[in-house]
Amino acid sequence: MTSAENGVAALTARVHRDLELSAPPPRWWVPHTEGTDYEVLVVGGGHAGLAAAFALTRQRIPRVLVVDRNPRGTAGPWRSYARMHTLRSPKWMPGIELDVPSLSVRAWFEARYGADAWESITYVPRLDWADYLDWYREVLELPVRCDTDVVAVHEPTEPDGPFRIVLEHGGEHDTVTARRVVFAPGLDGAGGPSVPPAVASLPRSLWAHSADDIDFAALEGKSVGVLGAGASGWDNAACALEAGADHVTLFARRDEIPTHNPLRWMEFVGFQHHYADWSDHQKFEFSCYSGGLPQPPTQYGVWRCRDFDNFTLALGSSLESIAVTGDDKPRLTVTTPDGEHEVDFLVAATGYVTDLRLRPELAAFIDHIALWEDRYAPSRGTSIGPCPYLGGGFEFTAKDPDAAPWISRLFHLSVGARASMGVAGHQLSGIGAGLARLASTIARDAFLEHTDEFVAQFRTVESVEVHDLGRHDGAGPRPSSARYAEADEQQTLVRALRSEGAPQ
Ligand SMILES: Cc1cc2nc3c(=O)[nH]c(=O)nc-3n(C[C@H](O)[C@H](O)[C@H](O)COP(=O)(O)OP(=O)(O)OC[C@H]3O[C@@H](n4cnc5c(N)ncnc54)[C@H](O)[C@@H]3O)c2cc1C
Repeated sequence: MTSAENGVAALTARVHRDLELSAPPPRWWVPHTEGTDYEVLVVGGGHAGLAAAFALTRQRIPRVLVVDRNPRGTAGPWRSYARMHTLRSPKWMPGIELDVPSLSVRAWFEARYGADAWESITYVPRLDWADYLDWYREVLELPVRCDTDVVAVHEPTEPDGPFRIVLEHGGEHDTVTARRVVFAPGLDGAGGPSVPPAVASLPRSLWAHSADDIDFAALEGKSVGVLGAGASGWDNAACALEAGADHVTLFARRDEIPTHNPLRWMEFVGFQHHYADWSDHQKFEFSCYSGGLPQPPTQYGVWRCRDFDNFTLALGSSLESIAVTGDDKPRLTVTTPDGEHEVDFLVAATGYVTDLRLRPELAAFIDHIALWEDRYAPSRGTSIGPCPYLGGGFEFTAKDPDAAPWISRLFHLSVGARASMGVAGHQLSGIGAGLARLASTIARDAFLEHTDEFVAQFRTVESVEVHDLGRHDGAGPRPSSARYAEADEQQTLVRALRSEGAPQ
């Protein structure tokens, strides 16, 4: 074994020991309801879905399943469309280890590369984050069903019944049932990619969204345009340049590139844990203000592009129109306020829209989900309006609670949670706080639902602790004295160890 493998193997053993030492009481306590396969089904096996499953096991909630459409090891963006070299979250941010420090990315990184290596990095390298997630899933033995798509979640036939979830694997469908569903489907989880209509109507061979699988090698010698100068725009421009593109133009709407990241201010315990406790008015005012602030690119992304002479940053270049030119070798003419730009290929790094109607797995009950615009009139017509109006544990709320009393058993651990939950969501900026809320809400609800059962159980179950009442019929020595002496001997041994110190 290499020293890295040895280090990780030793850490794995330490995690098992820490899990043992910090284990909650052993009973998997939520009773099984007949006809329900899973207590909680989690849609999406990225870091949010995996950590949600772990948080539920810390609450000793049984029968949890995570479902991810990607093959094993490729959940989330880390080995596909996340094209930066490092994460942008501060490396010290507590993450998905919850209360087990040996599970942290820092512990894993130090085990693999050494403590000096951790000191020397500013951010966690992206592919290491992906490797860490693989290890995290394995060391915790999380139940993940890969290569499987959640295509639909159907409302219960009885108000208190389970959801029917249609899964698709290799073209085959099957249906499972679950009492609760946590939706953790990633960056497009509240809608889908946002693409300007002028781009969406172009032939697909001439453009891609930044979240698509892009063949950068095919862009060698080509002229590439990237629309949108957020972090992904810079990363995609850098990939095209590194792949040998003839020229890359990054079209930025703004006249200046923002340099200040408002997210960093939000990464403190009070905000992470208690934004959700603000009033609607406070959340709305804050979200409107912070949502309107520009997000900067990453420093590394800027440097990666600036390394190339064939890179152009076109500021103040909002898209006015775009047209296909040339018949046998089609190209694009991109028109911005400063004129026309010819490119062979365009990457739309234009982010995501919030529109829950675009999510197939929500389609069956979409009309029941209350949005901010249903609950808080001033949000109508703003970017907050289409966000789901969530309860304090990420649960959907119903437009009409009488029509969908079951909706609080469906949870949105995804981007649309921002308005209701602040940074306590799927991103590392506050995921620890979010997971604590999610898991304790699910545990609370499951406990309250089964109150009668627990009380009945308490009345009938005997927890015998004193199994020998020491009765003595008067003949011979008292057996209880001998037993007590035996027990006392163990205590004496412990007392001796305490005074002498542990044996070497
Ligand atoms: C370039 C880039 C850099 C980023 N840097 C950071 C950073 O530094 N820090 C940070 O916190 N975040 C960062 N992010 C955001 C990052 O995407 C999220 O924080 C992270 O991926 C969230 O994890 P998640 O589990 O919610 O979603 P994901 O990691 O996207 O995982 C969701 C999974 O659900 C699967 N899925 C979706 N729908 C279904 C379905 N119906 N059935 C089955 N499976 C489904 C998806 O295929 C995916 O595998 C970055 C993103 C990008 C693109």
